[in-house]
Amino acid sequence: MPFDLRALLDEHAGQCAALYGTHVNPRFARAMGLIGFDRCYVRGRGQYLWDADGRRHLDMLAGYGVFNIGRHHPVVRKALEDFMDMELPSLVQLDTPLLVALAARELKARVGLGLDYVYFGSTGAEANETAIKFARRTTGRTRILHAESAFHGLTTGALALNGSEVFREGFGPLLPGARVPFGDAEALRRELAAGDVAAFFVEPVQGKGVHVAPEGYLREAARLCHEHGALFVVDEVQTGVGRTGRFLALHHEEGVEPDMVLMSKALSGGFIPVSAVLMTRRVYDSVFSSLDRSVVHSSTFGKSNLAATALLATLSVVDDEGLAERAARLGGRLMDGLRAMSERFEFMGEVRGRGLMVAVDFVRPRSMKLRTAWKMVNALSPDLFCQAVTMPLLERHGILTQVAGHGMATIKLIPPLVIDEGDVDTFLGAFGEVMEDLHRFPGPAWESLSRIARNALSSGAKGS
Ligand code: PLP
Repeated sequence: MPFDLRALLDEHAGQCAALYGTHVNPRFARAMGLIGFDRCYVRGRGQYLWDADGRRHLDMLAGYGVFNIGRHHPVVRKALEDFMDMELPSLVQLDTPLLVALAARELKARVGLGLDYVYFGSTGAEANETAIKFARRTTGRTRILHAESAFHGLTTGALALNGSEVFREGFGPLLPGARVPFGDAEALRRELAAGDVAAFFVEPVQGKGVHVAPEGYLREAARLCHEHGALFVVDEVQTGVGRTGRFLALHHEEGVEPDMVLMSKALSGGFIPVSAVLMTRRVYDSVFSSLDRSVVHSSTFGKSNLAATALLATLSVVDDEGLAERAARLGGRLMDGLRAMSERFEFMGEVRGRGLMVAVDFVRPRSMKLRTAWKMVNALSPDLFCQAVTMPLLERHGILTQVAGHGMATIKLIPPLVIDEGDVDTFLGAFGEVMEDLHRFPGPAWESLSRIARNALSSGAKGS
């Protein structure tokens, strides 16, 4: 019988967590089960996901920032269907593919910043790996600097630039380099002064914890790198494609001169993995320095006309729907609403972000009774309090959110940029209700939290 997707899904309806646990990652499936995130979503469109019971969920996670234009955008979908209908060739490899060239031209036009050539790959980590190699070749140096809390992917090169020990442990030794405090230009200068640094990699708004670079920092960091013969590499894998209210987060600051800009995630509408390394002519000339060396760096899926089609269609949607401006406007509404609430709720700390990349910190409350609850939860795990927020948001309000990083009392909101005012207000209302419940101790919200903690501890003890 020919492959039948619908029949396959029907046959296995409701079995997603069980099958994932059996064949892919049992511990991840268990972790999802503990917090009630082990649901089978059966449909996604725009900013919404539906489960098998037809319940609609608001997706404030967007596949970790992949679906800026929402899921199944009709314009990108039509472009991909046209591609299939025309039976266009992709990955011929020994050719110069037109759609790939057009994708590079359109991307350059939106990024600007004096970057001349584009290398295409598949993932954010691959873009970082590529830039590490290119920086080494261009400078003849080996050390790469990264920031505290940085995240650039989990392949071994990118892992050397990871600012959290939890990801690195047991995978070393990694590439040589050093970590500097994010936003501290003087600390960066001290490291660069050693004279052996190939590049400094930095996210303009850090994904882990949503820390926005202080005003002027990126410009100064680029200047210092150049003064000391190092390259300045900006990772816009998560912040790019309108997320922070401009096409790039770098565009918020005048006069920054990057040697490479790295993009991925939202670049192709979430249909096909694509990443891009935009580079100066100098970097290009160092790496691809002769005809012989014109293939010295490549990857099989890098010259995909299909991915380029998704990318071109996605860029047109971002322009036509004014999604960067929309992110700025709705991000402002979201942060204003959250800040207004923080007066009322003792657990709420700083609300920060840029555009639709927003974080809410939770802090030790003032009153004695709530402080006891806070202490109890934090003694078990620093991010457990966040689960007390994300779980009822999903369970009771059908809103998908995430903890901002390991061991952080912070939640992060990165919805599709196509959300509307109504979605923002729905979120604010739901978040307010969850906060109200958590400010009642003892109360049902705390009981369910301690039940989860007990379950987690007992399954951890059994190693299952
Ligand atoms: N760089 C940044 C800033 C990211 O946020 C991520 C992923 O979250 C990556 C790189 C790695 O991307 P990928 O998971 O596609 O390898």
